[in-house]
Amino acid sequence: MLIVMDKDATAEQIAAVVAKIETLGYAAQPIPGGERVAIGILRNPRSVDPALFLDMPGVVQAIPVSRPYKLVSREMKREDTILHLPGLEVGRGRFVVMAGPCGVESETQALTIARAVKAAGAQIFRGGAYKPRTSPYSYQGLGKPGLKILKKVREETGLLIVTEAVDAESLKLVAECADIIQIGARNMQNFTLLRRAGQSGKPVLLKRGMYATLEEWLMAAEYIMAEGNPQVILCERGVRGIGEHSRYLLDLSMVPVVRRESHLPIVVDPSHAAGRRDLVSPLARAAVAAGCDGLLIEVHHEPEKALSDGAQSLYPHQFSVLMQDIKTLRPGNWP
Ligand code: PEP
Ligand code: MN
Repeated sequence: MLIVMDKDATAEQIAAVVAKIETLGYAAQPIPGGERVAIGILRNPRSVDPALFLDMPGVVQAIPVSRPYKLVSREMKREDTILHLPGLEVGRGRFVVMAGPCGVESETQALTIARAVKAAGAQIFRGGAYKPRTSPYSYQGLGKPGLKILKKVREETGLLIVTEAVDAESLKLVAECADIIQIGARNMQNFTLLRRAGQSGKPVLLKRGMYATLEEWLMAAEYIMAEGNPQVILCERGVRGIGEHSRYLLDLSMVPVVRRESHLPIVVDPSHAAGRRDLVSPLARAAVAAGCDGLLIEVHHEPEKALSDGAQSLYPHQFSVLMQDIKTLRPGNWP
């Protein structure tokens, strides 16, 4: 249930509604809108009687929320969410590009790639210090020294940093150093980790699990938001398909569907979906045309030597061409 307040409702009237919700044993979540405040009722096991609120001063409407995800849903919040990062806004009307290698391998590697993607127009540097790999024998990332390198990248280039946390311990360290915490596809339903990401108060990039339905994905985002953290960016990265022609199947239908269901920004990662370099730019252009809020692209200056995901990493010159294409497809409103 969503209690919509009059645009002239006083702070006391809003507080009275919150108090009533809490007296009933539920949680109240005020959601400031452009025009008026709405208050979401959460943690109610059964539907709530709208009559309990309709005669309270300042209340104009009580709207039942039909979706299982509440805070994430557009029913609860009609306006698109815009994330405010240092010097950069993410969300509708702005387009963000996160680019960099799969893994941070050395200071020289990270800085070389960071300078190249910055020159091409990316605003955020990506690179994993903690890598969740299918094989325990594959490159697992540099860990803490990798985070130190990411800090240096930010200092030297001014790019913001997104990097993955794989467990509670790495999340704590990543939250101290990154501008955005990435939760990877394999951890999309690691509910303890999602809660901790919510508690960190940092923006979170939540990738879609490779088997996740729309509802499962949005419920994962709900875990983060239910901890009081509204700063979530959704990232479509492909689901298991058939055949060997691409590593995963990029599900671009998610872009308009998520936009209808949720107010959160949605970005697309064609690199992990494709698994091969030649598909990345066509898929990226298609994602832009589908209306996403940004892209996440793997780039490496020496992909043949990359310790992970070299086969899907664009060369810097290919990335520059792609950036030009994106700007042609989506002119204006670049941060
Ligand atoms: C990554 O971004 O490097 C990554 C491992 O992605 P995903 O979780 O989508 O596989
Ligand atoms: Mn990767």
